[in-house]
Amino acid sequence: MIKIHISDQCNACGACIRACPKGPRVYELRDGRLIVIDPSSCLGCTNCVSICPKNAIRLERI
Ligand code: SF4
Ligand code: SF4
Repeated sequence: MIKIHISDQCNACGACIRACPKGPRVYELRDGRLIVIDPSSCLGCTNCVSICPKNAIRLERI
């Protein structure tokens, strides 16, 4: 199981959603903010971490 931490540096650009193989299952943009809706869908590929221009995503294996 992976926990996804989004820091305050996130500017809701959506790049992580586009880069994620599970995209809209894991993330959603809501009211101008990035929300993690289903971390259990995460495959742990780290695409989102690599693509984020703000270095705002941290994955934690729990
Ligand atoms: S790529 Fe980074 S800055 Fe853009 S929405 Fe995702 S977490 Fe936020
Ligand atoms: S690690 Fe991969 S599968 Fe998990 S949220 Fe990031 S891009 Fe999606």
